[in-house]
Amino acid sequence: MEAIVFYPAPPIGHLISMVELGKLILTHQPSLSIHILITPPPYNAGNTAPYIAQVSAAFPSITFHHLPTAALPPPITPPTHHEILTFELLRSNNPNVHHALLSISKNYTVLGLVMDFFCFHALSVATDLNIPAYFFFTSGAGCLALFLYFTTLHENTTTSFKDIKTTPFDVPGTPPILPTDFPKPFLDRDDKIYEYFVEVCNQMPKSAGIIVNTFDCLEPRPLKAITDGLCVLNGPTPPIYCVGPLMAAKEGGGGDGGSGGDGVPECLTWLDSQPSRSVVFLCFGSLGLFPADQLEEIATGLERSGQRFLWVVRNPPSGRENRSVATSERPDPDFDSILPNGFLDRTKERGLVVKTWAPQVEVLKHDSVGGFVTHCGWNSVLEAVCAGVPMVAWPLYAEQRFNRITTVEEIKIALPMVESENGFVSSAEVEKRVRELMDSEEGDSIRKRTVAMKNEAKAALREGGSSRVALTELFVSWNRTLGSQGLHLEK
Ligand code: UDP
Repeated sequence: MEAIVFYPAPPIGHLISMVELGKLILTHQPSLSIHILITPPPYNAGNTAPYIAQVSAAFPSITFHHLPTAALPPPITPPTHHEILTFELLRSNNPNVHHALLSISKNYTVLGLVMDFFCFHALSVATDLNIPAYFFFTSGAGCLALFLYFTTLHENTTTSFKDIKTTPFDVPGTPPILPTDFPKPFLDRDDKIYEYFVEVCNQMPKSAGIIVNTFDCLEPRPLKAITDGLCVLNGPTPPIYCVGPLMAAKEGGGGDGGSGGDGVPECLTWLDSQPSRSVVFLCFGSLGLFPADQLEEIATGLERSGQRFLWVVRNPPSGRENRSVATSERPDPDFDSILPNGFLDRTKERGLVVKTWAPQVEVLKHDSVGGFVTHCGWNSVLEAVCAGVPMVAWPLYAEQRFNRITTVEEIKIALPMVESENGFVSSAEVEKRVRELMDSEEGDSIRKRTVAMKNEAKAALREGGSSRVALTELFVSWNRTLGSQGLHLEK
């Protein structure tokens, strides 16, 4: 029997994306077996146990392998980025990955190891075992162009990008980009996290292929630049397989946005009572946080906008936490203490605030939702596209500032939320952008474009569509691994 082994990074979002890729593969190659290596997380990465149990029960061809806890040397200095811990943990994991691959190989022909970029150290393990290694890139093609071109940017620059404030860089296939819009780990040459990312960017082209969660029509320019070889200048570009959009199914995620009596989340019942396309949805990913003063500003802006809204609110970070990323379990917020006095009462006819989590995919697909204020996590962007809901882009962490450029300037499916230099967004800006999104010509034009992309996404996933063709090409490359025996490929 043949198997593909997946190696996701610990945060639950990364696992969910890989499981979705696994399900897609099984739909078209049901004879394959998918094996997923699970690393014990170094920090709050979401409780994966219930999710794994659900997937195991629903998909017998997906098997989870829990790797032992890797011996991790204590950090000499506290890491500046929580991602450093992830990289170090995954590096220490190599012997466990080696052992797991060997043990899976006893019963299966392993056609490929598909790994998250955080797991890049395992490339050498796969090479040692003669298993083709693929990366699964969970952000878009524009961001992939930046990653692949970053080696060149790094080699051509001597100062840290954080010190280059006003010179935009030309990354092939993307709009000119200021270093302030690079992912944070790309900014400081003296930081350990920078070294890790340079290493990732160097290693990705050495793989047997890169699977990307996007589709051709959404990002044609960066895709062309990558496949024309304009991004990897020191060697060949590996094959790129755009198989998206992959969307998390219902079993993914955390809470439910408050459950109504019949098990339907309260926010969905509330949406049922709102007019078509009238509600703006505000939700900031699995980890997004705002300080208390920013929450107040959002509330004031929403109230003044006069628009209907559904807003997912989390407790602000405590003094020691990063300002915009949740790194520990958080208790539900107490609205009375964090929202302006009387806000809930004054807006109760047209607004709903939910605690911590809402079923985003279902909310976006609801007919009453007409706009989405998002942190620009790539899954959120794709979910908005698939629902045909235009966005206001308000990035918080990871590669989200880059995704704002992509969605606003390149794909033109979002309006920008513009922050001041210290990252604060005024209530006036919230009010203006929400109004613009829901009730202006500009808003209409990005809505039309988003709906067009929704239709393109459907077409890409249909038989003969670009994402289906890319998937078949991936199967063809696995067939080469099998040599003459061959998988029975779908037509
Ligand atoms: N999500 C959700 N409800 C929430 C917050 C997030 O369902 O209240 C889901 C969202 O639908 C998406 C994922 O969590 O699938 C977030 O992924 P994304 O890539 O957008 O951002 P990240 O959390 O990785 O920053």
